[in-house]
Amino acid sequence: MQNFRYKALPIDVHFGVGKSAETKDILLQHGYHKVLVITTSAQEEVGRKLAKELQEICAGVYPHAVRHVPIDVANKAVEFVKSTDIDCCLALGGGSTIGLAKIMALQTHLPIVAIPTTYAGSEMTSIYGLTENNLKATGKDIHVLPKVVIYDPKLSVTLPAEISACSGMNAMAHAVEALYAEDKNPIVTLMAVEAIKALKSALPVIVKDLNNISARQKATYGAWLAGVCLGSVGMAIHHKICHTLGGTFNLPHAQAHAITLAYSVQYNCSADIEAMDELAEALDVSSREEVGLAIYRLNESLGIELALKDIGLPESGPAEVARIMCDSPYYNPREYNYDELEGLLQKAYKGLPPV
Ligand code: NAD
Repeated sequence: MQNFRYKALPIDVHFGVGKSAETKDILLQHGYHKVLVITTSAQEEVGRKLAKELQEICAGVYPHAVRHVPIDVANKAVEFVKSTDIDCCLALGGGSTIGLAKIMALQTHLPIVAIPTTYAGSEMTSIYGLTENNLKATGKDIHVLPKVVIYDPKLSVTLPAEISACSGMNAMAHAVEALYAEDKNPIVTLMAVEAIKALKSALPVIVKDLNNISARQKATYGAWLAGVCLGSVGMAIHHKICHTLGGTFNLPHAQAHAITLAYSVQYNCSADIEAMDELAEALDVSSREEVGLAIYRLNESLGIELALKDIGLPESGPAEVARIMCDSPYYNPREYNYDELEGLLQKAYKGLPPV
């Protein structure tokens, strides 16, 4: 076993079906008496319902979170928060909503309580993102790490099948890359394997039966563990592909993750043999050469779009993404090879199997 460092992040996690009904008690236990509920416009109604339950400790609802946290949206939100005397930002929603709360926390040092309603995992990390001039910049700051996270699988039953599947595969991608991260460690590996198994077994049930609460519970559990992986170790080539697809081509985040994961693991399948054997075991396939195809087939069975061209990548995309990746690579257990990457991205563009 290699030497390692493991640094746990201090988050108070509450998990359970119906747990969000205890939000007021949990907020009071933490000493928060004047909270602002933050949502997207699409989730405003759920936010208003929560606000009603919080009664006198709710200062209002801020339903203005937008995908990828555009800078003008962030500036307005920070200005708004500074004009109030709230003592907590309560983010109810997916990565976009939690992302806006993170910028508020970054600028004001107000604490965040997060109630995630997708499987994206942002609530478990001290990473924030901000988009300006079509470029998404990310940073790390402990002030943006939520103090409390309340996971209630019931809140995810309204997520449509395709978003559930893609968001779940987005979570799986965090866990997969944690297996071969530069700073991987045995605890995170345990969580990653458990996350992959939970998501692989829950997602096929969810897409057939959105209200299946035990599958929702399992997926939420997997997403929590995957979020811890993302918050604990560095990511690699797959996250580089997705940040390029999102930042340069504005492709939807979860779908881009879901489609390209099969090709990323195919590229890395012999780069870190121990990690890929762990992945093969978690996916229940007999060898690491099969992991790419196994993820491709899983996507197919979940009804996920298989081709990047169908989610907005132009024909010039594969070559451009491969070039950007080689020019500014993230850590990866294998060197970046332009020709091979471009070839795999061409397959992803067309939705062909990775092998
Ligand atoms: P999202 O937050 O953009 O949500 C997608 C849509 O689904 C939104 O319209 C939202 O209102 C709606 N929605 C959310 N939950 C719902 C529910 N239960 N029922 C019905 N509708 C619901 O998508 P996401 O994939 O959760 O987050 C993506 C964003 O998060 C990206 O910007 C990504 O970069 C960021 N992210 C950041 C980190 C981090 O560590 N900083 C980690 C993961 C993702």
